[in-house]
Amino acid sequence: MTDQLRDEYDVVVVGGGAAGLSGALTLGRARRSVAVIDAGAPRNAPAEGVHGLLGREGIAPADLVEQGRGEVRRYGGHVVDATVTSAVRVGDGFEVTLADGRTVRARRLLVTTGLVDQLPDIPGLRERWGRDLVHCPYCHGWEVRDRAIGVLGTGPMSLHQVGLFRQWSADLTYFVHTGPMPSAEQAEELAARGIRVVTGEVVAVETTADRISGVRLRDGAVVAREVLVAGARMVARAGFLTELGLSVVEHVSGMGEHIAADPTGRTEVPGVWVAGNVTDLTAQVGAAAAAAVVAAAQINAELIAEETRAAVEEYRNSARPEAVPVS
Ligand SMILES: Cc1cc2nc3c(=O)[nH]c(=O)nc-3n(C[C@H](O)[C@H](O)[C@H](O)COP(=O)(O)OP(=O)(O)OC[C@H]3O[C@@H](n4cnc5c(N)ncnc54)[C@H](O)[C@@H]3O)c2cc1C
Repeated sequence: MTDQLRDEYDVVVVGGGAAGLSGALTLGRARRSVAVIDAGAPRNAPAEGVHGLLGREGIAPADLVEQGRGEVRRYGGHVVDATVTSAVRVGDGFEVTLADGRTVRARRLLVTTGLVDQLPDIPGLRERWGRDLVHCPYCHGWEVRDRAIGVLGTGPMSLHQVGLFRQWSADLTYFVHTGPMPSAEQAEELAARGIRVVTGEVVAVETTADRISGVRLRDGAVVAREVLVAGARMVARAGFLTELGLSVVEHVSGMGEHIAADPTGRTEVPGVWVAGNVTDLTAQVGAAAAAAVVAAAQINAELIAEETRAAVEEYRNSARPEAVPVS
């Protein structure tokens, strides 16, 4: 169901994944008018279930979003299927433009648009993402335990990933590819833990019967593997914020680009808040949702302060101010 979009809201939430819907739920329960505008492509959509989420362990990503949309609507929030293409400041608030040309005004913006996982350009790889090509041991480690796993070197964190996945399987191969070559000390650690190292360039992922079956190297050799691990470069989806003067910056970890914010989600542009993967690249579902609750509470507090200032001004300017009893 697509809700009717009104002209104006207290808060427009851009992005309706775990973060956006949690923020909107908090705002709706705070009696704020709120619209969630969502393009409908949460990052974990290819996965069969959401893991490590207390109370909802294993729920399908689409079911979690659908239930969240229902909870937001229960408190009067609108959920609109659309993509935001730009946002500009108008007076004290913002005007947001959607891809279909509609516009909507908001006093505050909560941006929860998540990120894009940029995978290495290796034939056969992308199609397996979220199934037998995984990145996060806490999301998928249990599901791939004791399988023949290959970790594909893609960036500075690849050796860290190798060390982590050893907790879930003893049958582990590190394909250096474009990742770091182990130092002498690291090579000793890998050998001590029974982890094989393959230095040849990876040119393709082999599949059989809709499953990964191996990794093909430049010299033609195929190393049999059932599961691959690859770290993607993570880039926040935030192009529509450019006109507001907000753009992505390199994350200190070297793992990607994000929108910088303080611990409550406040950005350098007054009135624009961020939560979830758009700012915290490594947040899982629970952390993304929790961060948006914090941001929503801060937004509500800021709106209350603004409304109190306006009320005081009106009170002082009124011809015969009502006496306020002071005990
Ligand atoms: C394959 C995979 C499996 C995962 N498994 C797990 C797991 O088991 N457990 C776990 O805790 N975490 C898991 N994660 C991490 C999880 O996906 C993130 O923690 C979570 O999606 C972050 O929520 P978010 O709301 O910040 O972003 P998202 O869930 O990505 O939601 C962002 C939303 O914003 C929308 N959007 C983007 N741009 C616009 C725009 N311009 N206008 C309107 N809407 C827009 C998107 O379409 C999307 O619906 C997994 C990640 C991947 C990649």
